Amino acid sequence: MKKHNFYAGPAILPKSVIKQAAKGALNFNDSGLSVLEISHRTPDFDEVINSAQDLIKELYQLPDNYHVLFTTGGASSQFFMIPMNLLNQDETAYYINTGTWSTKAIAEAQRYGNLIELASSADQKFNYLPKFKVPSKGKYVHITSNNTIYGTQFHHFPKGDIPYVCDMSSDFLSRPIDVEQYGLIYAGAQKNLGPAGVTVVIVRDDMLGKVQRDIPTLLNYETFVKKNSMFNTPPVFPIYLSMLTLKWIKEKGGVEKIERMNKSKAKLLYKELDTNPLFKANIVNKRHRSLMNVTFDMTNASLKDAFLAEAEANGIVGIKGHRSVGGFRASIYNAMPRSSVKVLTELMSDFTKRKG
Ligand code: PMP
Repeated sequence: MKKHNFYAGPAILPKSVIKQAAKGALNFNDSGLSVLEISHRTPDFDEVINSAQDLIKELYQLPDNYHVLFTTGGASSQFFMIPMNLLNQDETAYYINTGTWSTKAIAEAQRYGNLIELASSADQKFNYLPKFKVPSKGKYVHITSNNTIYGTQFHHFPKGDIPYVCDMSSDFLSRPIDVEQYGLIYAGAQKNLGPAGVTVVIVRDDMLGKVQRDIPTLLNYETFVKKNSMFNTPPVFPIYLSMLTLKWIKEKGGVEKIERMNKSKAKLLYKELDTNPLFKANIVNKRHRSLMNVTFDMTNASLKDAFLAEAEANGIVGIKGHRSVGGFRASIYNAMPRSSVKVLTELMSDFTKRKG
């Protein structure tokens, strides 16, 4: 049976990418060797990592003063690597708290400097986006552009004098960005880019080399810059797969095109949620709704298990909400085809006709 994969991450990747990766795992570039068993110090792998960097630069139109790095340890390691590398103990950074991941980022960063929570939506279980103004002084403002668990997404970033540091783990390359606003962008690969195991960091040159503390070599961004992310053995297969996904995004027409497709998918699903009496979107304010993670619930709680069972019977997987929120969540990342979203909305509509 055809599966419709709505998992939040690790998540759906383009079928063609998986096929190419499977081929590369058997015979990489007709070398007679697997991509899994070649040295990272080969011209073949150099080409993989360099094209991955170049494609990110091209897709986001990054100016030359931005570096693209591949790290390990997940986005969670960036929660401490960022303040460790960017913030002196007596300096101030501002954090916007919009959910579990921002809360974790704040907890880690508190070790490395003066932290101010500039705005928070914790008062309403993170089901909206708080307003804020960028302060005129300070090192950076940390923001989570898309809140994977709650289903909110910033569609607008107020301009200011200090740079944003942005956790884009769950909406990386899902839309164009105004690069100049960011001093640093980071994203765990396992939603829009590749498998778990690699994290992308995009950092502006002038953000680096400004802290006094002694940073361990492999936690220092400057090591990654100097060694082209290969001070030690990088996660070769996740980087290879990410490179294939980046090529796929380019072939699709780039991030503008991808955004149009993402908007169309989200519109289809939110429309069903807003018109079907048995379902409701968790995020009421339409301007705060995520195009990546659509969180919803049923108006009749006693029908939830029946709906979930029907979804599974129709090949729809991964729509159970995060354990801290409950209800449902459909993650509709870049690689999710509109046809799969349609299968879900048609089931919702049909279910309501029969049981509503
Ligand atoms: N930030 C966001 C927005 C996330 O969605 C996640 C993972 N779901 C993380 C950070 C943590 O990522 P990792 O598991 O790669 O550490």
